[in-house]
Amino acid sequence: MTIDPKIIEFFNKRKKVFITTHVRPDGDAVGSSLALFHFLRLQGHYAMLSFPSMFPDFHKWFPGIEEALIFPHKQSRIKQFLEGADLIIAVDFNDLKRNAELGKYLNELNVAKMLIDHHPNPANGFAFSVWNTAYCAAGEAVFDLIEAIDKNALKDQKIASCLYAAIISDSGSFRFPAVTEKTFGIASKLLASGIDHSQIQRDVYDNFTERRLRFWGHCVTEKMEILEEFNAAFIPITKEDFLKFGTKASDTENLVNFPMSIKHVNISVILVEHADFIKFSFRSKDDFPVNELAEKYFNGGGHVNAAGGESKSNMETAIQELKDSLKMWSKGI
Ligand code: 5GP
Ligand code: MN
Repeated sequence: MTIDPKIIEFFNKRKKVFITTHVRPDGDAVGSSLALFHFLRLQGHYAMLSFPSMFPDFHKWFPGIEEALIFPHKQSRIKQFLEGADLIIAVDFNDLKRNAELGKYLNELNVAKMLIDHHPNPANGFAFSVWNTAYCAAGEAVFDLIEAIDKNALKDQKIASCLYAAIISDSGSFRFPAVTEKTFGIASKLLASGIDHSQIQRDVYDNFTERRLRFWGHCVTEKMEILEEFNAAFIPITKEDFLKFGTKASDTENLVNFPMSIKHVNISVILVEHADFIKFSFRSKDDFPVNELAEKYFNGGGHVNAAGGESKSNMETAIQELKDSLKMWSKGI
């Protein structure tokens, strides 16, 4: 994608830039925001990176992640930095006000905002944007921005590793439909920096605890149900399941992709019990638009093949809501 020349011009002078990403940051959120943070610092800008909630331990390997400030723990430092900031950048999400306390706070500030993202239907009010739903990951958007400003920076191993991890995280290691010829072109340029791609795959996919794998086994063996009628599978995960295995909600990241390995399963859903709501994660094959299903019935959204939503009901009712939504969807209601 061509980058708006106004963006390039903006970064010609030293700027004070605040970068943030979505709650419960996944590999794309962490990798793309961190790559941007390293890049802006390398370019001599005064940059701060903040996550609106803590990241899970398995992301600790990301180079420089310890420099990210977690809101609200570092609230006063963050608020101080934002005084006189030139720009707030939202990476890998598209609506500040729907992004926990930090997002709401940023949304109210009278500071120019920039969007770097690949989700449909972004909110209004961004002065600059590097946005396209054709990007398979926000990491691709950050790559485009860096390449347009100073492509030499792509030789930096920290930047290249973070971008590579972002792209493999959101593309299931280059297997989802959003992957294009351009994605492989980007991967090729990142490898040219000398990064160890196989090590990064291990850091992203083989970096978990034994209890997490046993918990996944339990989820698949004991909890997964198949709805033959809809070619769908779902896994409801309760507080008791977490308690039994000593796991947390972050240990369910990617679990929703597992039932997709069943040949006839085209839709997969996990329902995760949080303190006062049930979080839904949806995945689909082909052109079944789980983002529309999530938006219509579960106050959510996302991409065609990967989306999320929530329900304030208890687990039993939430399961019924899911079944009803699939029934209504199939009838076009
Ligand atoms: P995941 O299942 O990995 O948490 O999320 C899949 C995709 O759906 C991500 O791109 C994420 O941003 C989006 N998503 C997840 N939950 C929600 C939600 O509650 N609302 C919206 N609009 N998007 C969501
Ligand atoms: Mn993403």
